[in-house]
Amino acid sequence: MAEDEVYLESVALTRTLPCLAEPGKIIVIGSPSRDLSDVLPFLATLPNIITYNPDASTLTFRRERGFLTLYRDKVIVIQVDNAEQGLDLLAALVDAINATWTHRHELAAINTPRRAPRPLDVWALLPQSNCKVCGEATCMAFAFAVLQQQRAVEECTPLAEDAAFVDRRVTLEAMLGVGA
Ligand code: SF4
Repeated sequence: MAEDEVYLESVALTRTLPCLAEPGKIIVIGSPSRDLSDVLPFLATLPNIITYNPDASTLTFRRERGFLTLYRDKVIVIQVDNAEQGLDLLAALVDAINATWTHRHELAAINTPRRAPRPLDVWALLPQSNCKVCGEATCMAFAFAVLQQQRAVEECTPLAEDAAFVDRRVTLEAMLGVGA
């Protein structure tokens, strides 16, 4: 039993992008030193999971502020203060992945989709301008309607069409299990 086996050596910070929708914040993109597919079913047992899609190998966590999405070959963290914080987050992620892998025999791997976003999670990724273009009075009302499957994400025109919101849209689509 290889209880001390290390799953992952590192997640290298490969890119940072300005978070255009939130000046001062950045998006951090990381590249894991190993394909994450094998550990995702165990990571999906952790708290603060918003969405897990085993078919697409995507797992989104809620952070204190912002979100972290794992793909088999990529990590995206949004609403990060600076590159230094990004490096700290990726290092903490490596530790969490390795700890989870070490204890995997005690965990019941999850291989079915999970989806538990809250209205605030959806709202946090909307433009929050209450522009009413979607027909709802507020972005929060739109968030509720999306979760009740009465409205589709693409009905928020600013989110769908404004390049400033690309990272939010991609994260929201992963969270909701929609989109490409
Ligand atoms: S269109 Fe988008 S930004 Fe405008 S109110 Fe609706 S959800 Fe908010």
